[in-house]
Formats: sequence, C-alpha cells, structure tokens
Amino acid sequence: MTAVIIDGKAVAEKIIAVIKAEVTTLKVKPGLAAILVGENPASKVYVDIKRKTCDEVGIYSELYKLPEQTTEKELLQLIGKLNASQKIHAILVQLPLPPQINEGKILAAVAIEKDVDGFSPENVGKLMAGKEAAVPCTPKGVIRLLEEYKIEIQGKNAVVIGRSNIVGKPVALMLLNRNATVTVCHSKTRDLKHYTRNADILVVAAGKPKLITAAMVKDGAVVIDVGINRLGDKLVGDVDFESVRMKAGYITPVPKGVGPMTVAMLIENTLERYKAIEGGRQK
Ligand code: NDP
Repeated sequence: MTAVIIDGKAVAEKIIAVIKAEVTTLKVKPGLAAILVGENPASKVYVDIKRKTCDEVGIYSELYKLPEQTTEKELLQLIGKLNASQKIHAILVQLPLPPQINEGKILAAVAIEKDVDGFSPENVGKLMAGKEAAVPCTPKGVIRLLEEYKIEIQGKNAVVIGRSNIVGKPVALMLLNRNATVTVCHSKTRDLKHYTRNADILVVAAGKPKLITAAMVKDGAVVIDVGINRLGDKLVGDVDFESVRMKAGYITPVPKGVGPMTVAMLIENTLERYKAIEGGRQK
C-alpha cells in the first residue's frame, strides 16, 4: 500500500484564499499583533511567515521584536497596550519566552477576546471541558486536515506522541472531544511501538527526526507528522516518510504538511477574533 499524501499546503492555500476574499469586503481590517522576545531563530522564521501571510490576506499587523533581556513588567505593559488598542483584534505571543518571564502570567494577561492562540487559562479550560472556543492553531490545523480528507475520528484509536501545551495536549483533547479513543505518549513512555502499532490515527509531535519507522505503524494508518527538525539544510519531520508512506493509508509530508495549516489557522482565528469583537462593537 502506498499512502495518500495529505497536501497541507494546498488545503492551507484554499482556506487563505477564502479568507482573503472576505477580508477585501471589510471596511475595518482585522488586526493581529505578534510579539517575539529574544533571538530564537526558528521563532523569528515563524513570525516572519505569519506576518507575510497577513500582508497577503490584507490583515493589518504589528510586529514587536523585543530584546532577549526584556522584563516581565515590560512585556505585560505592551500586552496591556495591545489589549486596549482598537486596531488590534488578535494577540500572538510567540513561545518560548526567555526564562526571566513567567509564561503563564503572560498568557493569562492577553484579553480573552484577543487570544488568537487559545493559550489563555480560560480557553484551555473550555477545550478541556469539551466546549472549544479559540483553539491553538497547530492542533486545529491537524483536525482540519483530517476533516478535509474525510477521515473519520469517532471510535478510532488515536495515539499522540508529545504532551506539550502547544501541540500534544490540545490535539489529544480535540481528538477526544471528537470521540476518538486517545493515548498520549511522551519521553518516559515504555515501549512506544506497543502503542503506535495500535493507532488508526497517529499524530507525532516530538521534535525527533525519524522517531517513527514503518515497523511502528499499523497498515493503513493515518500518520500526521507535526515535527519540524532541521537536518543540515533540509527540514524533516519526526516520521521516516519514505518507509512509512509504503505502509500508511494517509501521511503528511514535511514540509508542506501541518506547517502551512498552522499559519492558515492563525489567519482564520484572527478573523474569528475580529468578528467576535467588531460584532460586539456594532451591537
Ligand atoms: P516540545 O519539545 O515542547 O514537546 C515534545 C514532546 O515530545 C514532549 O512531550 C516530549 O516528552 C515528547 N518526546 C520527546 N522525545 C520523545 C521520544 N523519544 N518518544 C516519545 N515522546 C518524546 O515540542 P512541541 O510540542 O512544541 O513541538 C513538537 C514538534 O512539533 C517540534 O518538532 C516542533 O518544531 C514542531 N512544531 C511544529 C509546528 C507546525 O506548525 N508544524 C508547530 C509547533 C511545533 P516529555 O514531555 O516527556 O519531555
């Protein structure tokens, strides 16, 4: 069996084109503020891609590149200013933050109605309670890919590798909310293969190149590779794509899989935040 390759780039482009057409009709443009603290090279690349996509779509954006030594107080002041700004409907704080800044405090300071990444305690709680509101972009992109390819989630054995607050946990909760039977694996899991071989849907978000080989995958499984790893000048995922594609039913490539969907979901979430705020202002 050779897997269907899930074309995340094409799905993302389709979503972005629809949003762009809608944005051109809006008098007041949606506004996204992105905050980057420090010199993390991967974060810089992600923020630049997000900004470029905003420009393409016609979304107003503000980018704050703050020095590594920025204090928690300074960052809180900036968030306070953006919370009050009429031009900004969505606020993104690029993670990770430098160690002197308490991440939880910062994410809690973003106004709930502008929480584009769904990382505020309130939105995390809603996801946990099965009442999804703003949900994180990468997990949302994973679910959207499954939907676009008409892959049923209900009743399936879903295995998620990785338990970060950004990817692993929220994607596991979203799968659970859609009635999958979910197993979450992590670095302390014993005998990873025992779990992965039972997965109808395998979502891998570990940040370890070639962690998943063909021997670890069930025939016909859906394999979603969230990992982004730089090997020399190449980007690779966590899945050994060439061998696993011969066994899986569906597989996402890296690049052009989940990555573009993360950006498309950020744009979609920005428009949702905009509608929630502007709809409220017009009442
Ligand atoms: P983190 O480093 O925060 O989390 C990695 C998770 O993987 C941890 O839970 C860790 O376990 C687990 N893990 C690590 N090694 C193993 C192993 N050998 N076996 C099983 N589990 C393991 O990373 P993120 O969640 O932020 O990101 C994961 C990957 O996804 C990265 O490659 C990142 O670059 C990529 N990414 C891609 C995005 C996209 O748009 N495509 C967006 C965001 C991230 P433990 O908790 O025990 O340490």
